Amino acid sequence: MTAPLPLPVVRTVAELRAQVAAWRAQGLTVAMVPTMGALHAGHLSLIALGEQLADRTVASIFVNPTQFAPHEDFDAYPRGEARDAELLAKAGCALLYAPTAAEMYPDGFGTTVNVTGGVADPLEGQSRPHFFGGVATVVSKLLNQCRPDVAIFGEKDYQQLAVIRRMAADLDLGVEIVGGPTSREPDDLAMSSRNAYLSADERERASALPAAMRAAVGFLREGQPAEAVETRTKAILSEAGFGKIDYVEVRDGVTLERLGPGPVGAGARVFVAAWMGKTRLIDNWAV
Ligand code: AMP
Repeated sequence: MTAPLPLPVVRTVAELRAQVAAWRAQGLTVAMVPTMGALHAGHLSLIALGEQLADRTVASIFVNPTQFAPHEDFDAYPRGEARDAELLAKAGCALLYAPTAAEMYPDGFGTTVNVTGGVADPLEGQSRPHFFGGVATVVSKLLNQCRPDVAIFGEKDYQQLAVIRRMAADLDLGVEIVGGPTSREPDDLAMSSRNAYLSADERERASALPAAMRAAVGFLREGQPAEAVETRTKAILSEAGFGKIDYVEVRDGVTLERLGPGPVGAGARVFVAAWMGKTRLIDNWAV
């Protein structure tokens, strides 16, 4: 196989729009995969999905400052554009859009998009109150800048996908929002750029997260009530060396609402956010 050509990189809205317009003039359709870089096989699976759904796939890399609280890991977040661009080119991506913070938030920037209530409210909305405002604002900008036919987001960030679907529908963005399945390591730990923060010992102990999720799904399928399963799952995680557990919650997979008492149905989903050392890990599994 011949090596892929270097990936074209653009950093301004004008250049991005010119390339997309040129494709449109040829009758080509466009998929977009927004990311924060430090790419892994999970991101690349979304590029592969883009390749199936459209003629050209644009990836964006932007570590968005507005979705990090001051005490969070914005400065430490892993960055490596050259490596990312190579991986994207190999995966068949046609263009990398990597804007600067000044391009995204020029002086005088003063508009934010907030998805209020509903799917944005629980879970991450409670643990990271700044988060979805930052995400909805930056994603609405990225989608307006590129105007793709389809935009692809990972089910790894299941609630984020739900919030983006809500936002795209509410703002009539005219972009189809598609979710891609979570890519996992051999022990089923969800791939994440933040896994790079884990020490070897923490990484080993983090295996307990997918194991606890699998156990939780098993208990729920046996008919154990959600609340009891949440308590048991928290205990399993604590026992395995997880520190603070932000949440373990069983919720409806569409509305993200709490479920009534008694055995849960097939549409339920288990959501977890827990800390291994200084690293916050999130995951979700269908029941
Ligand atoms: P991030 O760079 O972490 O902001 O993620 C960019 C996109 O990749 C988001 O839509 C994520 O949901 C998605 N993503 C992250 N990790 C995975 C994974 N393990 N499997 C599938 N998609 C993922």
